[in-house]
Amino acid sequence: MEPLDERAIRASFVNCSKGDASRIRMPAGFADGAVPWDDLDFLGWTDPGAPQRALLVVPGEPDPTGLVLRRPGAVRSSAMRSSMCRICLTDHAASGVALFVAPLAGPAGRRGNSVGEYLCADLACSLYLRGRRQPRMRLVRREETLSLAERIDRAMTNLAAFTNRVLAG
Ligand SMILES: [Zn+2]
Repeated sequence: MEPLDERAIRASFVNCSKGDASRIRMPAGFADGAVPWDDLDFLGWTDPGAPQRALLVVPGEPDPTGLVLRRPGAVRSSAMRSSMCRICLTDHAASGVALFVAPLAGPAGRRGNSVGEYLCADLACSLYLRGRRQPRMRLVRREETLSLAERIDRAMTNLAAFTNRVLAG
């Protein structure tokens, strides 16, 4: 994806107040140019100042769309069970996938309504797709016949569906 500056990122969030958006902390290494933009289809990170808060910024025309997500408290689950990210379809041990909950945009969200999705717990779908990061303790390796470009397309389609559910409010 094209690199984004902090102003564009803060302006992208659709499901929080401007005040909340101003308090979000940028990803670790952001100021040092350590974000691997060339390998990312979207930017996802955990707020360094608030571990229960995660952020997604999805490129788009004319502007990127940013989502604020909550990471609910740990769910007890067996480490031996594998789970799949619903965006990039990477298989993980259960701890490698987390349920993220997004308040809906607009009045519905302010009334407390939200939608949830299971994603790679570190929000690094782009890196798993490219083999730059490997799931820990993966038990099942599904053989994929799709090319990398096709798998990226599929992930972005899944992500757009989630984003649209939030935007629909
Ligand atoms: Zn993923």
